[in-house]
Amino acid sequence: MSNSGDQAVIAIENARLFTALQEKTRELEMASRHKTAFLANMSHELRTPLNAVLGFTRIVLRETRAQIAPKQTENLEKIQASTRHLVGLINATLDLTRIEAGRVEIVASELALGALVDECLRSVEPLAADGVSLHARLPPGLPPLRVDVEKLHQILLNLLGNAVKFTEQGTIELRAAIGDGNIEIEVEDSGIGIPPDKLEAVFEEFEQVDASHTRAHGGTGLGLAIARRLARAMGGELVAVSALGVGSTFTLSLPLRWSEPGEA
Ligand code: ADP
Repeated sequence: MSNSGDQAVIAIENARLFTALQEKTRELEMASRHKTAFLANMSHELRTPLNAVLGFTRIVLRETRAQIAPKQTENLEKIQASTRHLVGLINATLDLTRIEAGRVEIVASELALGALVDECLRSVEPLAADGVSLHARLPPGLPPLRVDVEKLHQILLNLLGNAVKFTEQGTIELRAAIGDGNIEIEVEDSGIGIPPDKLEAVFEEFEQVDASHTRAHGGTGLGLAIARRLARAMGGELVAVSALGVGSTFTLSLPLRWSEPGEA
């Protein structure tokens, strides 16, 4: 065949492959939309009866505590704890689905970081082991940030919640530093640490270093997967360094001022 004949055959084949690829992409997008819709509906359907179980268990506990044996109270509390865990899993799965489907919208507003940090510390303080010192060290004159406050709140709560969960003694400290157009927020703990071969895996869905520890302390294995995706959606990054038996530091970096992609 002539040279131009060869080229025509290649061009036709390329066009055929391109059309097939477009078709496959459309099918995958459709499947992904169905998956998201299914998960959204399913989690709604599951959440409603689970909240009923939680509510009624709370009533039974309140009304009968004085009349039933301590063992029965304990059993009711176990029902409550398991149900809370399930609701947490469902909420986290839904969060992850939304993010995977590219449905995270950044709603930016002005924030004084100190106020949000104080609120997060107050939320996790009751969960800290006795004798663990939990505090923040923010530089003076921190400028106001322009961030998605709700998402930053969720990330900080996850990092501080983990620090508290995996630290039996010593210190948990949140620090912030301003870089070139960025803010770096570090959460450092003197907890059990993460083995080097698991340091990246903990950002994957359902990855936990030690499931038995989690059974004792609660957790879904989804928190860090969500936190890293949220950080990236906000134009930032979340990384960790850790030494087994010494402690871990999670560093979140974010643009000081969020602007829509394409915005000056
Ligand atoms: P969860 O805490 O709900 O299990 P995460 O995704 O937040 O899920 O964390 C995944 C795993 O990473 C945890 O189960 C734990 O093994 C490990 N991990 C996270 N934070 C810390 C920390 N500060 N110290 C030690 N291990 C940690």
